[in-house]
Amino acid sequence: MITIENYINGELVAPFEGKYIDNYNPSKGEVYSQIPNSQKEDVDLAAKAASDAFPGWSKTPKNKRSEILVRLADLIDKNLDELARAEALDNGKPYKLATRVDIPRASANIRFFATAILHDASQSHHMEEGFTNYTLNHPLGVVGAISPWNLPLYLFTWKIAPAIASGCTVIAKPSEVTPMTAYLFSKLCIEAGLPKGVLNIVHGLGAHAGDAIVSHPKVKAISFTGGTATGRIIGRKAAESFKKTSLELGGKNPNIIFADCDFDAMLNTTLHSSFANQGQICLCGSRIFIQKPIYEKFKKAFLAKLANHTVGNPFDEGTKMGALVSKDHLEKVLGYVKLAQEEGGKVLFGGNQLTVEGSENGYYMEPTVIEGLDFNCRTNQEEIFGPVVTLTPFETEEEVLEYANSTEYGLAATVWTENLTTAQRMSQELESGIVWINCWLVRDLRTPFGGVKNSGLGREGGFRALEFFTEPKNVCIKY
Ligand code: NDP
Repeated sequence: MITIENYINGELVAPFEGKYIDNYNPSKGEVYSQIPNSQKEDVDLAAKAASDAFPGWSKTPKNKRSEILVRLADLIDKNLDELARAEALDNGKPYKLATRVDIPRASANIRFFATAILHDASQSHHMEEGFTNYTLNHPLGVVGAISPWNLPLYLFTWKIAPAIASGCTVIAKPSEVTPMTAYLFSKLCIEAGLPKGVLNIVHGLGAHAGDAIVSHPKVKAISFTGGTATGRIIGRKAAESFKKTSLELGGKNPNIIFADCDFDAMLNTTLHSSFANQGQICLCGSRIFIQKPIYEKFKKAFLAKLANHTVGNPFDEGTKMGALVSKDHLEKVLGYVKLAQEEGGKVLFGGNQLTVEGSENGYYMEPTVIEGLDFNCRTNQEEIFGPVVTLTPFETEEEVLEYANSTEYGLAATVWTENLTTAQRMSQELESGIVWINCWLVRDLRTPFGGVKNSGLGREGGFRALEFFTEPKNVCIKY
């Protein structure tokens, strides 16, 4: 049994009260590690360490900060296999996916912001009356980073890298459900020589450790990725003490397929955008809208592909889909399949829990395709966050725009068409932070990332992320 510890003031430490929570391996349904059940006292210690470290770290020259962070990125690359195995075990995702996507992206996040700070510039404004203004960008101070379980190290580093690079010090809480890679990462921080207190990782429940970070008077900003309901609680609480917030929340993304699309390319990518990471990516296209002339052709080809979409143990060579992250989550997703049927939906494929040989207690589920639902029903409006997609036919652009924009969410949309004018018009009209045309989840880390409506507040990515962690100060000089 592995015992995870907090990382505070440069050291691995037991939680203040000495209490731990069970951590499950979802592919076996077994407890395999213990994580600190941290409380306010642990967050207080982390806040003190972060606050003590801030003057030194914020004044450390950028090239030195950059050097340490690049060293950390190199260590992630060096330990790719161990980290990918840990991610697959902790989350249930295919080991291959963690090797190809999660862990390389974690090191890319750190490298990106470590080098971005070397190219930063500040503005100046000249006045004809004889004054010149220039802007200083000061790091905010101690900031909080709270991340979810679906892409654990990937999203954890996406938050802490710009914070640390810009000179802030951090208290971070990974999801209680997937703490392992953040724990291994804390060991890499020690190996990389990250000065003590610059990053502090406090493990535990959102309602205790998470809440204590959001409420802490020393914390100046909260960068949060997670569900919309949690985001609302955090936003409200942070507002009481005027903390800056960046909120990346849920999605119910449309995947819009026009009859003139490149069918084969669309089909292959749609398989990924529907079921990658067991459908547990905030960007997955869970509502598939297909133009009527190709509706039946699409349905047939999509279902045929699914016949080979193997669900299995994350470490098996042929596994395309692993286990869902937890028993509770599996039950929630299965509950939505039941709801879809009550709402008049027809399950075309899957819909059930699966037993995988050798991993009988794991939280596996079949990829699931449902048709025959109204665009306005709960199944088509609420975020399911699992391997469940709905198929809905449409005729015109106007009609599909009404369907696509009908939810409270607005994170990402995908459009498949060879017609540039249609693509342009759709991009203008879709209520979405991100629009992918003839592709999905292609990420350039310089671009603005985030959602509209209830999918979030603010944007991450590029210099925007660095800006979030700094406070501009205008200096005006008379000459
Ligand atoms: P949750 O909102 O349940 O949790 C996210 C994090 O917040 C966890 O670390 C959680 O801790 C913590 N937390 C929970 N309650 C509080 C609280 N009151 N105060 C402070 N922190 C708290 O999300 P999930 O982990 O279930 O992740 C799935 C969600 O994340 C989906 O809705 C998905 O769409 C969204 N997401 C959004 C992305 C985006 O970029 N927009 C990207 C990826 C996911 P604990 O685990 O202990 O509860």
